[in-house]
Amino acid sequence: MSDYRLNTKCVQGGYHPGNGEPRQIPIIQSTTFKYDTSEDMGKLFDLEAEGYFYTRLQNPTNDRVAAKIAELEGGTAGMLTSSGQAANFFALFNICECGSHIVASSSIYGGTFNLISVTMAKMGIDVTFVSPDASMEELNAAFRENTRAMFGETIANPALTVLDIEKFAAAAHAHGVPLIVDNTFPTPVNCRPIEWGADIVTHSTTKYMDGHGAAVGGAIVDSGKFDWMAHADKYPGLCKPDDSYHGITYAEKFGKEGAFITKCTAQLMRDFGCIQSPQHAFILNLGLESLHVRMQRHVENGQAVAEYLSRCPKVAAVNYPGLPGDAYYEIAQKYLPNGGCGVVSFELKGGRPTAEAFMKELKLAAIETHVADARTCCLNPATSTHRQMSDAQLAAAGVPAGLIRISCGLEDKEDLIEDLEQAMRVVSD
Ligand SMILES: *Cc1c(COP(=O)(O)O)cnc(C)c1O
Repeated sequence: MSDYRLNTKCVQGGYHPGNGEPRQIPIIQSTTFKYDTSEDMGKLFDLEAEGYFYTRLQNPTNDRVAAKIAELEGGTAGMLTSSGQAANFFALFNICECGSHIVASSSIYGGTFNLISVTMAKMGIDVTFVSPDASMEELNAAFRENTRAMFGETIANPALTVLDIEKFAAAAHAHGVPLIVDNTFPTPVNCRPIEWGADIVTHSTTKYMDGHGAAVGGAIVDSGKFDWMAHADKYPGLCKPDDSYHGITYAEKFGKEGAFITKCTAQLMRDFGCIQSPQHAFILNLGLESLHVRMQRHVENGQAVAEYLSRCPKVAAVNYPGLPGDAYYEIAQKYLPNGGCGVVSFELKGGRPTAEAFMKELKLAAIETHVADARTCCLNPATSTHRQMSDAQLAAAGVPAGLIRISCGLEDKEDLIEDLEQAMRVVSD
């Protein structure tokens, strides 16, 4: 499928049925797979042959959907995980261990921030957070001799900052480490980080890829470009023999194109088992078939809502990278020329109490801990996802107490704006 254009890949990538085979990706609802001889099975356990033996590690339904996502991102290999959290954890832990260090953008999803700064810290993995707007000097200063990965989000959830992928990739590569980019919000329809130098791309497929709020899931895609062997001292897990698989060396046996995902499947899926169920992978693929069509509408609605809010006298600030005057407008023009996503955040002049009163009045935009599905929803991070933070911490994280995040769905934009207008009428200035 590599010669086809993106929309065609959304619809037909990853799965190519033979004569008389099912047109739709079959759900292989089986935990296990049958073999004629123990010898055949043994080859799978030695990674000498390709095939399936247990769905905790790999399943054919998942692999076809992962292959589609890898094609969309322009990578060489991909895998599905049970959630976006699992995808980011696996992507980092596949190349980090106790004693390693990560450089991460401070403007990232709260769950990922917690994963890296609290849970991975307990595993002995340190982090230095850098501003997404950091200069090259500031980025360089964050690296240490034990740094093993750099991490950022193309469009950060919920701050809506845009990552300068080329700059972050240049800093990572100058220090001999890969750049991992969480591309959940733009999806490969609006940005393909690998084209800008990212080495590994991750997704919460729970969001636009599924797109219907139906199935939690994640994905990891490898660009196949990072030369692990050139930095063998840093990545012994990829470049030294794995005793748990009869001494194979991933980077030698599977090359740059396959080593990362093979190791991640063979070791981390085997030991942690955070695999997506084949049912969820099937649902995810239904979403992917219309991703290109839906993203256009999400962007159109996001742009219209952001423009309306920017004209509204009761609104103190609007964040939307597609809005001229937004702090990330210029950089979005470079990385997101067709628009970014349907998520907009804004602050009402009355702060937190006004935000709460306003949200109660909305009829179409439901209050939900979610973003990026067909139905418009909204959230006040200060009273929900970021509840544990003080007002000062919220301000420092770029998530002021009165901030409302609205995820524009696929409804008519006129109806979304009228819903906002009627709620505006109720709240004071
Ligand atoms: C939601 C989200 C995640 C976490 O994904 P889950 O599927 O909820 O585990 C990670 N990164 C970003 C950018 C997200 O929006």
